[in-house]
Amino acid sequence: MTTRPAGPGAAVEILAIGDELLLGATVDTNSAWIARRLAAEGIVVVRKTTVGDDVALITQALDDALRRTGTVLCTGGLGPTPDDLTRHAVAAQYGRRIVVDEAWVQILRERHAARGMEMPAINRVQGEHPEGARLLHNARGTAPGIVVHDDAIGTTILLPGVPHEMRGLMEDDVVPLLRERLQPTSRLVSRLLRTAGLSEALLAERVADIAAGVTAPLSLAYLPHVTGVDLRVTAPATHEADAVALQDFLRQRLAADVYAADETDLADVVGGMLKERGLTVALAESCTGGLLAKRLTDGAGASAYLHAGFVTYANDAKRDQLGVPAETLALHGAVSELCARQMAEGARQVASADVAISITGVAGPGGGSEEKPVGTVWIAVALPAGTHARLFRFSGDRGIVRDRSAQAALDMLRRRLSDDADQPGASQRATPDAG
Ligand code: AMP
Ligand code: MG
Repeated sequence: MTTRPAGPGAAVEILAIGDELLLGATVDTNSAWIARRLAAEGIVVVRKTTVGDDVALITQALDDALRRTGTVLCTGGLGPTPDDLTRHAVAAQYGRRIVVDEAWVQILRERHAARGMEMPAINRVQGEHPEGARLLHNARGTAPGIVVHDDAIGTTILLPGVPHEMRGLMEDDVVPLLRERLQPTSRLVSRLLRTAGLSEALLAERVADIAAGVTAPLSLAYLPHVTGVDLRVTAPATHEADAVALQDFLRQRLAADVYAADETDLADVVGGMLKERGLTVALAESCTGGLLAKRLTDGAGASAYLHAGFVTYANDAKRDQLGVPAETLALHGAVSELCARQMAEGARQVASADVAISITGVAGPGGGSEEKPVGTVWIAVALPAGTHARLFRFSGDRGIVRDRSAQAALDMLRRRLSDDADQPGASQRATPDAG
């Protein structure tokens, strides 16, 4: 136990605890989430540490972290089983004994009773905490959060490892508490633009002159995902208007390549467009195996526009359910422009939908040929005014090819519905394998 020197104001450290994190069996998503959440508050995470479920190691790591910043957020090791040792390590660090909060144990007992169950005796451990600590009520699980403070040592906040419980306690209690204690002055704001169909490099070229003019305290980040590239503008809250102006400027430049100016998923954007226009959609999927249907039904309210989805994996199914002629399959193959067109037109007709999307391709790892290598995907969109088909050559493994296919199909329909050219980059330049 060491007395800490005065540290920087709004700086904290994160200590992730759990053997499973060191084994790589569980990915430490908690630290990333906490860091992102605190960054938005202007609270700087200066270090993240991971240790196993071991009292000596936890205490050592906690001691180091407290000496550096005086405020440490820990996650993990608050379960009811003997391998969860975080409470004991913290009690040792603060030189306090472990006591039980009977009120919390009673809450757990009542929760079990409400479900007709008796509380297992080991749950009593979850009322344990270092004497003098404050418990944070956890409505989502059995381990309360624990706040331990000592003027000479600093503040340690213990959160459960279960991600949604941790997030709930962060929002309800910890963020307000840290705001109050650390008084961060530079809350950050960020504005997003989501694009589909452009590679990171092409996107960067398109906005190169704008990006070159971005100066501190504003910053611009390219966030490439398998399904498209996001652009994020970040600024201190004091410069929010500048961030909004930059976002607008970028949006005008990128025009139809931007599908959302916030976190909205492309499927929800497309769903909204269909709903607004009073159109129903049918889906004919081969290599995506229903992924497009999943994407379109992830959000509530899909019944307003999704009519039916066909997963026609076998040639016979394409023929029998969608009416793709046997000659198409024999002469051109299932992965062909004609097959994609006929799948979309067949789905539109069979389901009596206004529009239809089809996807047929080689997701891999097997099944590729010289002419149609893995990643070759034909996508068609059938509309009242006609059918449009496009060839994609995606890179990536099976999962990535499928994700990219579903995204490209949604983007094709989006561009058609907004009466824009279906080529990414609008009149500028297209890339055949972006996305
Ligand atoms: P614990 O609080 O250690 O009993 O952990 C409860 C659950 O949360 C386990 O399934 C852990 O794998 C998970 N978990 C623990 N720490 C983390 C973390 N840092 N990130 C994501 N999940 C975690
Ligand atoms: Mg654990």
